[in-house]
Amino acid sequence: MTQSHVMNTYGRLPVSFVRGEGVRLFDEAGKSYLDAISGIGVNALGHAHPAVTEAICQQAGALLHTSNLYNVQRQTQLADALCDASGMSNVFFSNSGAEANEAAIKLARMHGHNRGIEIPHIIVMESAFHGRTLATMTASGNRKIQAGFEPLVQGFTRAPYGDLAALESIAKNNDSVAAVLLEPLQGEGGINMLPEGFLAALRELCDAHNWLLMLDEVQTGNGRTGKYFAFQHSGVMPDVVTTAKGLGNGLPIGACLAHGAAAELFKPGNHGSTFGGNPLACAAALSVVNTVAQDSFLADVTQKGELLRQGLRERLADCEQFVEVRGLGLMVGIQLKSPCGPLVGKALEQGLLINVTSERVVRLLPPLIINQQEIDQLLDLLCPLIKQWCPDAS
Ligand SMILES: *Cc1c(COP(=O)(O)O)cnc(C)c1O
Repeated sequence: MTQSHVMNTYGRLPVSFVRGEGVRLFDEAGKSYLDAISGIGVNALGHAHPAVTEAICQQAGALLHTSNLYNVQRQTQLADALCDASGMSNVFFSNSGAEANEAAIKLARMHGHNRGIEIPHIIVMESAFHGRTLATMTASGNRKIQAGFEPLVQGFTRAPYGDLAALESIAKNNDSVAAVLLEPLQGEGGINMLPEGFLAALRELCDAHNWLLMLDEVQTGNGRTGKYFAFQHSGVMPDVVTTAKGLGNGLPIGACLAHGAAAELFKPGNHGSTFGGNPLACAAALSVVNTVAQDSFLADVTQKGELLRQGLRERLADCEQFVEVRGLGLMVGIQLKSPCGPLVGKALEQGLLINVTSERVVRLLPPLIINQQEIDQLLDLLCPLIKQWCPDAS
């Protein structure tokens, strides 16, 4: 391959796709791939979903952009649909997950200043991932993505993920905290789950100390875990929720949703985005939210997720490398004993798209529209690869 003029920020696999349909992608030679990563959880309804395609084509022929100087009808409709699906009250639209989190971070700081805190702090978690802007990179709990970009942004305090005692101890010793920001299920950090009852206990702690409870659902939102948002498994209402990835099924859009007093914090002029809530992106997202809200869609995600995890557990039980399967809905991690990055390339050769995160975790984020037969195909392709794969051989 000749040297590209694209900046060298990604280690890319040697393939490029020209077409997709449902859970399948096709490369330049016409080879078909089973997509079990959905562009990192973005193509939630798979590729070329008819409802999304139609919404985009219609909107593209009518109106692409008018700016937030005016009312944007599609934005209003999408905010209504998201609040219906979640019980949240108001939405700010951005173009990405990191920007949705920037809005949440600004809400937390404003909340802190309103409380008279001079330098408000946000508690963030070890192994967290919140994005690549300066503030969201600082909020992320991964030294690798921060190194070389210091000075980091001030106003963040780190705690271990899922450790309530650590948060209680911060509450005792630090009166500059304005908010807690965490993923209800960590994605990039390795599909790490919170202990049962954690969010309810955290809600009480936040109420006791007047902290905003802010959830990053950029990856877990939009049906991925079998509820519209993952927090809906817990019965706990957060003050702020961010999302992006699956929301536009491939059109760039993010959202920062707020509830209660947090929804009244921003006033005109406090925050903005030229493209945020653009009619085209909102039309695509509206078709996603409406599809996910239909009939048994979310119950099916739960059932298919259980099928997938159970299949993995059964078939990998006798594998020497296998530790455990974690996840909720169709967000699944397979923990192995050794670093397993090379599995991604081996799967690609077999026509299967997967991802490895946190070195030893095979991550699966298949399109939510995957059917049982396709889950069987996924198991048939992936399990032998994991079993055959031996870190000593490579
Ligand atoms: C992907 C991701 C982000 C960043 O989203 P971008 O659209 O890449 O900015 C933030 N938080 C979580 C949990 C994510 O998975």
